[in-house]
Amino acid sequence: MAWFRKDKKPLRAEDRREVPTDVFDKCKGCGEILYRERLAQNLNVCPDCGYHLRVGAHAYVSILLDGGSFHEADADLRAADPLDFTDLKPYPERVAAAEAKGKTEAAVSGTGQLDGIEVSLAVMDFDFIGGSMGSVVGEKIARAGRVALEREIPFLIVSASGGARMQEGIYSLMQMAKTSTVLARLHDSGIPFISILTHPTTGGVTASYAMLGDANLAEPGALIGFAGPRVIEETIKQELPAGFQRSEFLREHGMVDRVVDRRDLKETVAALLRHQYAGWSD
Ligand SMILES: [Zn+2]
Repeated sequence: MAWFRKDKKPLRAEDRREVPTDVFDKCKGCGEILYRERLAQNLNVCPDCGYHLRVGAHAYVSILLDGGSFHEADADLRAADPLDFTDLKPYPERVAAAEAKGKTEAAVSGTGQLDGIEVSLAVMDFDFIGGSMGSVVGEKIARAGRVALEREIPFLIVSASGGARMQEGIYSLMQMAKTSTVLARLHDSGIPFISILTHPTTGGVTASYAMLGDANLAEPGALIGFAGPRVIEETIKQELPAGFQRSEFLREHGMVDRVVDRRDLKETVAALLRHQYAGWSD
């Protein structure tokens, strides 16, 4: 009797863990199913294992700035298509598709109060074309840096990026020089710049402003690097050590000053600004 001997297929782990996506999220760190609301209250850090789930630019604005103090700048800047670029689809279509998801670019910038300290802030958003740095991202960051310079207020950048935006070619690469120049002027004027690196921060962003902070802070477990590990291994013909390009490894090797839990980020930045730059506290 065939039915009697029928093998019972065990449920695969991923089937068993399937959950409605609008109420729950599954932690990528420990696999725990978490109430989205509870996660949000915990700034999207898993209460069980501490894994930092990705959040968008506006979430960082709320995490860092005092409620209602943010004034967004340059919200109407839009990408041009200087190279008439077509890969799988024309670049303007790619931008339009990204915009249709509710975001206008891979960076949000403006000013606001962080624990009562007036700051200029730019936050990248990985959900918009992989957080790629095109001319709009570079321009928003450069302008926000200039606001810090003119108003003599601290400057913060939260980075999350796959690197340069290939659809803008050399225009994208030029943003590295443009933003770095503004940061050099801030440095010369003694105005603090704090760089916050989140998962992932790679390519041209790591090779420019993300690593130029007076303090470089990183969220736990963030991938931070210029080229990917495979490319490096193939180039240097060596196996890379475990945890290479993660926040903690970079902290041990002096590339990052401190690994900071998202829940302590605001407090840490406020303390840094107050300790190092006494004049900024009032
Ligand atoms: Zn977890």
